[in-house]
Amino acid sequence: MTSNVDALFARNGFAADRVFTPQGDYGRYQCTTPCTPTTFDSRPLVARLLAAYDPATGAVAGPLPSCPNCGGEVEINVRIGPEFVDAPYLPAGRRLQDWLGTAPAGTRLLIIEFGAGFNTPGVIRWPGEHLTRRIPHARLVRVNPTHPETPADLAGRTLSARVGADDLLDALTVPHPAPDPTVAP
Ligand SMILES: [Zn+2]
Repeated sequence: MTSNVDALFARNGFAADRVFTPQGDYGRYQCTTPCTPTTFDSRPLVARLLAAYDPATGAVAGPLPSCPNCGGEVEINVRIGPEFVDAPYLPAGRRLQDWLGTAPAGTRLLIIEFGAGFNTPGVIRWPGEHLTRRIPHARLVRVNPTHPETPADLAGRTLSARVGADDLLDALTVPHPAPDPTVAP
């Protein structure tokens, strides 16, 4: 589950249908109205705009992007406001909830949270805390360089790491041993 909207999990080998992205996806665009719950691949649109973009003036020639369904205004399919079309993301969220709902009693769940502060705490940070409360054997690891605090009622079930995710992962990486020159590759 991620608040990122850059599709980098999927582009880096995670199965796209196993990544819940409740905040949307820059790779899709939607009708601003919206007249339809359908979203559209933004790649052709971006390619057209880039081709029509004049870096000297910043102007884009040609017609503005419009909704393929109603012809109205469009926007990137991320959670900007109440018009956000979340339909494409709900199935992955339901699969996550179903999976959590089938966890047998005594399940030991480890939640590792990276960089979820107070910009949109209702997306990742608070749900992780609620989940930790709901599943008695759950543990929460909070990795955050500025807001690593954890709720007092979860004391003993949380681990705070006041560090950036990249620094932590670097520190945990086991260096590969130097190649043995006596062994043929
Ligand atoms: Zn429309």
